[in-house]
Amino acid sequence: MTEQFRCGFVAVIGRPNVGKSTLVNALVGEKVSITTHKPQTTRHRILGIKTKADYQIVLVDTPGFHLREKQAINRYMNRAALGALHDVDLVLLVVEVGQWGEEEESLLVRLEQNQVILPVFALINKIDTIENKTALLPFIKQLQQRFAFSEVVPLSARTNEGVDRLEELLSPCLPEGGALYDDDQYTDRSLRFIAAELLREQLYLNLRQELPYAITVEIEAFEEQQGINRIAAVIWVAKPGHKGIIIGKQGAGLKRIGEQARLSMEASFAKKVFLNLWVKVKEDWNDNDRILHSLGYQD
Ligand code: GDP
Ligand code: MG
Repeated sequence: MTEQFRCGFVAVIGRPNVGKSTLVNALVGEKVSITTHKPQTTRHRILGIKTKADYQIVLVDTPGFHLREKQAINRYMNRAALGALHDVDLVLLVVEVGQWGEEEESLLVRLEQNQVILPVFALINKIDTIENKTALLPFIKQLQQRFAFSEVVPLSARTNEGVDRLEELLSPCLPEGGALYDDDQYTDRSLRFIAAELLREQLYLNLRQELPYAITVEIEAFEEQQGINRIAAVIWVAKPGHKGIIIGKQGAGLKRIGEQARLSMEASFAKKVFLNLWVKVKEDWNDNDRILHSLGYQD
């Protein structure tokens, strides 16, 4: 008898910066979701899809769950993170070695409250940063005592160590059923969305401190022409003072960001890109639900 095809949704949750998006990319084998060293890089729920001969895993990458909801955008991100717990077949709670705190407790409480009777795996990420792997054992034990995780899996999303094993453990947990996406589709997001994200990634990498959090990107035009994609994007900032910082001396800052974003879009789209950028002010866009909605932050 042949095995039935399996297909299911897998939520990837955890506090900001533990490596959720890096893991989704590692599992899918494509750059689905942007990743940076700064917390709260991911702002939306994004699907990463991996199809094999006998299963399709639909990973739901989420914004990191955080306890300080300073602004409307933070509340939006937490809603997106927790909303991902509905209608999934398995939950991956990503933590860092030795780090179990208020955020993790709070996420577990949500899982218990929602009476989500789902398999939950605890993933201990970034094990490439610890020299002595036996140091992991007490942490694994601590997690097992706190919650009836179906599996506790140490891994490194960056080096791929343990990622194949994770896939072997999770694929049998998917329900039987046909594929929901074409086998060559690796995300639910449009090229437009990916272009905006790749630009936002460069803004996170190039700008200091809090400034990236005051920025959002809107793609005004995306024309797919033969051999080239022509993209026009607006970088919205929350305060007039931000504009000059991004543009830089004689436009040097914006030029550098634009070049790096263009190169990463060309790599992603395997096509030449012409990128036109503007920086504009929309006061306090990040603390206004109506403006957030108009900029694509829609539940
Ligand atoms: P997210 O906020 O949980 O989605 O985290 P990201 O995927 O954006 O990663 C946050 C930071 O952790 C980035 O600088 C990643 O390169 C880094 N990171 C992710 N996974 C690993 C890992 O396995 N090992 C190490 N050393 N760093 C990692
Ligand atoms: Mg992320």
